Amino acid sequence: MSLDALPPLRESLEQHGLLARKSFGQHFLLDLNITRKIARLAGPLDGRTVIEVGPGPGGLTRALLEAGARVVAVEKDPRFLPLLEELGEASGGALTLIQADALKVDEAQLAGGEALVVANLPYNVGTPLLIKWLTGPWRPTSMSLMFQKEVADRIAAPVDSNAYGRLGVISQAICRCQVVMDLPARAFTPPPKVASAVVRLDPLDPAPEKALVTALEKVTAAAFGQRRKMLRSSLKQLGGGTLCERAGIDPDARAETIDVAGFLRLARAL
Ligand code: SAM
Repeated sequence: MSLDALPPLRESLEQHGLLARKSFGQHFLLDLNITRKIARLAGPLDGRTVIEVGPGPGGLTRALLEAGARVVAVEKDPRFLPLLEELGEASGGALTLIQADALKVDEAQLAGGEALVVANLPYNVGTPLLIKWLTGPWRPTSMSLMFQKEVADRIAAPVDSNAYGRLGVISQAICRCQVVMDLPARAFTPPPKVASAVVRLDPLDPAPEKALVTALEKVTAAAFGQRRKMLRSSLKQLGGGTLCERAGIDPDARAETIDVAGFLRLARAL
């Protein structure tokens, strides 16, 4: 069987008697027009390796395979493996399935070289996975990730906006971050309580050094931990006013008014 001869996703789910489980954050995209659009937004995929976390019934996986990618899919719920194996056969060997918790896998070993990440992430582990890919030893060439809309907005938030905070500063210090697609809750089966969005993250070149990122994590934790306070007081443990002065930052300013470049100066000064 080829990819276009596969039954519609809803039918595959029924054939395998599969229902979504809340504990695994399962909200499926069963409309191939939507999954194809997400694959397109990830850029040219022909001949490239994609790591997909949480393929579930495989709607996004199908779209990635149709676009010519070699896909390494990491799924925690073993119930989906038989259905995904059928997809693997139809792809002529372009799909590798790994049954594992994505938080624990070694992506460098799975990818065996350069790879992108494309995923409709489970809500409960989306942010820890993003932090792993931003700050861990393995660097994807790009990431196109579906989050709850509120999290997507925080990742790409401009300075001095309500959504601007630690996640945005760390993400934007490492990647160019852009919300590229919004999706209403009704696009998913079953629908979640909130809307979703896809964020595309492209690593900056050169990448900030590991030690600088560690310092940035410390500074942003302190600054946004008490975001209503002036930096001289929220950063007290790290040097307060003196640290700010060394970084050329007004010690009376509040965290949300300091742009990413400013936070990087504070991290360097630390
Ligand atoms: N990609 C599918 C789609 O778009 O229809 C499913 C997306 S659903 C939001 C999240 C998927 O991630 C589910 O299949 C779930 O079983 C899987 N999952 C949940 N936690 C996981 C983890 N820690 N590691 C790997 N997969 C996980």
